[in-house]
Amino acid sequence: MKDADARSITTARPSVGESHATERRHLDRRHLLRAGLGLAAVASAGGTLLTSEEAEAAALRAPPRVLSLVNLHTGERISAEYWSRGKYVRDAMRALNRVLRDHHNNSVHAIDPKLIDLVHSLSRKINRRGPIEIISGYRSPETNAMLREADGSGVAQNSYHMRGMAIDLRVQGLSTRQLQRAALSLRGGGVGYYPDSNFVHVDVGPLRHW
Ligand SMILES: [Zn+2]
Repeated sequence: MKDADARSITTARPSVGESHATERRHLDRRHLLRAGLGLAAVASAGGTLLTSEEAEAAALRAPPRVLSLVNLHTGERISAEYWSRGKYVRDAMRALNRVLRDHHNNSVHAIDPKLIDLVHSLSRKINRRGPIEIISGYRSPETNAMLREADGSGVAQNSYHMRGMAIDLRVQGLSTRQLQRAALSLRGGGVGYYPDSNFVHVDVGPLRHW
């Protein structure tokens, strides 16, 4: 079973690169859009009634958020209550950062809490069918450069993986299509669909898909 996973991970790499060429274009656009997004945020802040209602309802329920992951490269598993009583739990977030590290050189990077929440939402959306299987989380500049060299032109220079803002994942018993649909429905950022390699890329960059 483990060997099969390792093989599919290896075959996944070339197409990972294709997605990240797309990512790079969006990163460039992001700078152009930033001022406009700032204005939009100010405008939506006017809707205070809805926001306070949501906050109050959330505070009343205050369910802790638990995320279960398995890293397919290292075999490490974690089930972390990473958010509780309205706050992120520091030790749990650190443990998640470690499992999501760059396994090529063991470098650890803070993973964007928005991304953790997005993967948590995805896990709930699919009724927590099992741990989320991680193919790639954080990617260091060195690893990204190595993959760029190995894969030719495909891997983006400014991948969201290098900012702790992207994860490639799959779930046992769920087709890549089912997982992609679930991820798209969350509208949390970028969604990349890789049926040949059986994984979905999610990131907390601008809303887009490929
Ligand atoms: Zn990716």
